[in-house]
Amino acid sequence: MGWKTLDDMDLAGKRVLTRVDINVPVEDGRVTDATRIERIVPTVRDILEGGGTPVLIAHFGRPKGKVVLDLSLRVTLPALEEALGRPVTLIETLEAAERDTEEARAADILLLENIRFHPGEEANDPDFAERLAALGDVYCNDAFSASHRAHASTEGIAHHLPSCAGRLMQAELEALEAALSHPARPLMAVVGGAKVSTKLDLLSNLVERVDMLVIGGGMANTFLAAQGIDVGRSLCEHDMAETAREIAAKAARSGCEMLLPRDVVVAREFKEGAPHEIVRVEDCPQDAMILDAGPDSVAHIQQALDRAHTLIWNGPLGAFEIAPFDTATNAAAAHAAGLSRSGKLVSVAGGGDTVAALNKADASEQFTYISTAGGAFLEWMEGKTLPGVAALRA
Ligand code: ADP
Ligand code: MG
Repeated sequence: MGWKTLDDMDLAGKRVLTRVDINVPVEDGRVTDATRIERIVPTVRDILEGGGTPVLIAHFGRPKGKVVLDLSLRVTLPALEEALGRPVTLIETLEAAERDTEEARAADILLLENIRFHPGEEANDPDFAERLAALGDVYCNDAFSASHRAHASTEGIAHHLPSCAGRLMQAELEALEAALSHPARPLMAVVGGAKVSTKLDLLSNLVERVDMLVIGGGMANTFLAAQGIDVGRSLCEHDMAETAREIAAKAARSGCEMLLPRDVVVAREFKEGAPHEIVRVEDCPQDAMILDAGPDSVAHIQQALDRAHTLIWNGPLGAFEIAPFDTATNAAAAHAAGLSRSGKLVSVAGGGDTVAALNKADASEQFTYISTAGGAFLEWMEGKTLPGVAALRA
């Protein structure tokens, strides 16, 4: 795999600079969703158990290299202390951290103030990275979701210290490797969502690696239109027709079976409970919009899932936010969840709307792994090298 974990490091008596993602939502000075904070607990716990002192490094919002008091990490302290069950000491400036005060030496867990207050962070300034590294003995990156950016605290610092992946990073890397680098085949991908144009790199990479590719959601309309099918008033990128044909040709060349909708659910309004009907894809009325895949398409997808051993899913199959156009997404998700639960399928999903859709479908718990890493997940699926991960391998 090529990276070290906390198990490989000597932590006793060491300061462990630990990059975490605790960029949590806050309202009226209070954390409203502590999920990200809860997910760093295993890493912090294991560092403490190994005899090390975690020095947490994190960003919060977009202060753009300046001190913005509203974006102080102080607001996260109560939630951090609750999740970790210990006091957390905030160090407000790098100078204070360098002075290594009595208070800091006595503390269990340290938290550096918002690292993006420093212009050197996002610029990945080598001097800044070195200065940061000098604050500790070991570097642990537990922020996969920030590792598609080459910043000082995600990339530069790793060149100066013995480095390893934290528990959350480790789980994410293991799940993504299992799904894409050495998957049990057949490997199936479901790519849905609104537009082809936002997922071109994803489609191009997957089409050469997967055995079956389901195209769903609004982007399926673009593929259908590219075959000369009239999609009426559906969301469709007509200027992407050539690209869609190229992706289909690439699929044929690499032996990837492409599954497009066979029947669809159409409506005249984009509205909850709008009157709707099921038609063959060739029969979409000119004044209607395709808002979901139909039952025949869903059965087709479920049969493919039955054959697959690994599933990668990004993008809903329909306009899942408005019932009943969440039907296909829910049904496919439930089927994948059932197969995962019984150990027949390794299922990995990610993407902002995808995570919301799978939660809504009550399927998330049973999926093998749900990535909440957003952009970093997508870049990995696009086959890109993530600088923060590459730095750990070095
Ligand atoms: P993710 O955030 O998981 O990567 P996307 O942002 O690409 O997913 O796509 C999600 C959006 O696609 C949702 O808002 C959903 O309503 C929309 N969508 C899916 N199918 C259709 C459709 N047939 N017509 C219009 N919008 C659709
Ligand atoms: Mg989205």
